[in-house]
Amino acid sequence: MIYLDNAATTRTAPEVVEAMIPYFTEMYGNPSAIYSLGSAGKKAINEARRTIAGAVGAKPEEIYFTAGGTEADNWAVKAAAESRGAEGKHIITTKIEHHAVLHTCAYLEKKGYEVTYLDVDGDGLVDVRALKAAIRPDTILISVMFANNEIGTIEPIREIGSLAREHGILFHTDAVQAFGQIPIDVEEMNIDMLSASAHKLNGPKGTGMLYIRSDVKIRSFVHGGAQERNRRAGTENVPGIVGFAAAVRRAQRIMEEKARKERELRDYLIGRIESEIPYCRLNGHREKRLPGNANISFRFIEGESLLIMLDMRGVCASSGSACTSGSLDPSHVLLAIGLKHEEAHGSLRMTLSEENTKEELDQVVGHLKEIVQRLRDMSPLYEDFMKSRRDRT
Ligand code: PLP
Repeated sequence: MIYLDNAATTRTAPEVVEAMIPYFTEMYGNPSAIYSLGSAGKKAINEARRTIAGAVGAKPEEIYFTAGGTEADNWAVKAAAESRGAEGKHIITTKIEHHAVLHTCAYLEKKGYEVTYLDVDGDGLVDVRALKAAIRPDTILISVMFANNEIGTIEPIREIGSLAREHGILFHTDAVQAFGQIPIDVEEMNIDMLSASAHKLNGPKGTGMLYIRSDVKIRSFVHGGAQERNRRAGTENVPGIVGFAAAVRRAQRIMEEKARKERELRDYLIGRIESEIPYCRLNGHREKRLPGNANISFRFIEGESLLIMLDMRGVCASSGSACTSGSLDPSHVLLAIGLKHEEAHGSLRMTLSEENTKEELDQVVGHLKEIVQRLRDMSPLYEDFMKSRRDRT
């Protein structure tokens, strides 16, 4: 099997699993309990909080554990909107956010909030001047993702952060794809709230965090017990949190080397595809992109068919349909960068890890050349296109 879907999820690292096991088997006590079986869990949570805070330049008490990135996004956007609702009801986000933000904004629109969905350019970049122009006296929240999950484009977060700060507007960033892959500093970048998820960096699924700057007062997400300083009640997922911290330690340790390797592999893959398969285009910014992301549209083919045929050859990747696989809608991200419906449908996202090799990518390129040609040979659109080319010459 060749796994090229690391933006969907990653393999849980062996050192992460090892760190988690004792919290299932021996130290299973409830962290709220007084006896030492419980306090071992509490101690592990506190240590995890310190590790994760350190990784983004935050204070430990600014980290709140959640059940993943979706929950963190929901909390940040809904609670910020509610707590600032008396000052205004205008939110700014972008057309290329993950559905965890977009659908939350749609929910808020039904509750009387007004949302501006900013356009992005052909590479998926937010224009900071357009963002500035969209700010109104009643703007209470800006939510712009750190890096896009489909095309890998990295947004100008530092500039957006200073703009938001200058205007006294809360700034949330969905850093689910960026955290653990590229450096982040919430202080330097003026970030008020940041979402992250463990399973994107070789940690366990169903564990994430929301960073909330200490002077940002937003409501609790889950009401109940006093866990997470009364803001996210419920017995903590101790093994998950311990695994998250182990994944963060690993990510910090290998980040530079991992990014270097992935960039080299990514550029090799993109280069070979661009030079050996005609009628394709790279989606997303060529340089300002996540180290492991290659997203390519192949004209005249269906991404779904391509995925199935790749799967039959043991290659896992993802297509240009909405990230919830099974949906036949073209990706909102690809449409937002200006692709036509049929181009978006013919897109393939390959997201690498440092464990992939050049030999694997050579095999993938071989498969792609063959499959793309086979699908084009069956496509009436391709036939028409070739015929009109022949007629012209
Ligand atoms: N935000 C982005 C940018 C993502 O890529 C994802 C997952 O694909 C999420 C949020 C949701 O994270 P989780 O799967 O942890 O709920």
